[in-house]
Amino acid sequence: MIVVMKVGSPESAIAEVCQELETWGLTPEKIIGKHKVVIGLVGETASLDPLQLQEISPWIEEVLRVEKPFKRASLEFRHGEPSEVTVSTPNGDVTFGKNHPVVVVAGPCSVENAEMIITTAKRVRDAGAKFLRGGAYKPRTSPYSFQGHGESALELLAAAREASGLGIITEVMDTADVEKIAAVADVLQVGARNMQNFPLLKKVGAQDKPVLLKRGMSATIDEWLMAAEYILAAGNPNVILCERGIRTFDSKYTRNSLDIGVLPVLRTLTHLPIMLDPSHGTGRAEYVPDMAKAAIAGGADSLMIEVHPNPAKALSDGPQSLNPDKFDRVMKELAIVGQAIGRWSKVPVALT
Ligand code: PEP
Ligand code: MN
Repeated sequence: MIVVMKVGSPESAIAEVCQELETWGLTPEKIIGKHKVVIGLVGETASLDPLQLQEISPWIEEVLRVEKPFKRASLEFRHGEPSEVTVSTPNGDVTFGKNHPVVVVAGPCSVENAEMIITTAKRVRDAGAKFLRGGAYKPRTSPYSFQGHGESALELLAAAREASGLGIITEVMDTADVEKIAAVADVLQVGARNMQNFPLLKKVGAQDKPVLLKRGMSATIDEWLMAAEYILAAGNPNVILCERGIRTFDSKYTRNSLDIGVLPVLRTLTHLPIMLDPSHGTGRAEYVPDMAKAAIAGGADSLMIEVHPNPAKALSDGPQSLNPDKFDRVMKELAIVGQAIGRWSKVPVALT
């Protein structure tokens, strides 16, 4: 349920409404929109009469039921107002959101050694990326494939952050690793294979770092948004969704089917920022540039692109990784599309 306050409601009236709602056994969440304040309510609201709630204060404009099963993640919960996730990086604050420039996240699938991660970080920063991605703990289909260097790779990510000024996004697979990864990462990634790892969702929801939630490879949109709901319900409002391709009947030519059509659908369902990952979405470096451009034109708030200094030698996901020269070119093309729709950063990157 949401309580929509009238434009210009005084702070004291909003506070009184919240206090009153607490006496009803509800937990009010104040959402400050551009024009209005909305108070979100979750809990035992089924038996409540919206008209009765309306009586609480003359400053209440209306009381509406949120019909979706994902309450906090729904667009209704914020009365249509998109949410923003702002991350402070050494190079400055970066905001993911519908009314902000597209944020590009780039880097290798796995952190392999100091030289490669620091070189890649500087290259992608100079091309305009705002975050470095790189896996320390890798979810691999085969137990015999490279599993990531673990803790020592976290140290390398910290060094790359220091050297480049970029924010760090890296995956957490195990609840036991959340604290140590959160100590280095600016954003925690929950990968496709863990989208419904509910203990992990609760754990990342109970800490402060923003969470990038990748769509499970066979997850419906509702399942994905319910997974986001776990994180939000655990107390972390900073969730970014990432579409990274789904399983369909045809996987002969691409690794996954990148579901670009999910972009406008999500816009009608959720306020959360949306990232698109054309690297895992296609599995082939040659398809990444066109899908990246399409993602921006289609309204994505952010892109994740795998970049490796020598893709042929990569320890994971080489076939879908761009080399730095190709990434430079893609960024120039993306700038044209991004500028055309008014969503490209004009602020020069801070070089440290
Ligand atoms: C990754 O980002 O390297 C990764 C493993 O992604 P996904 O969970 O989408 O497969
Ligand atoms: Mn990868």
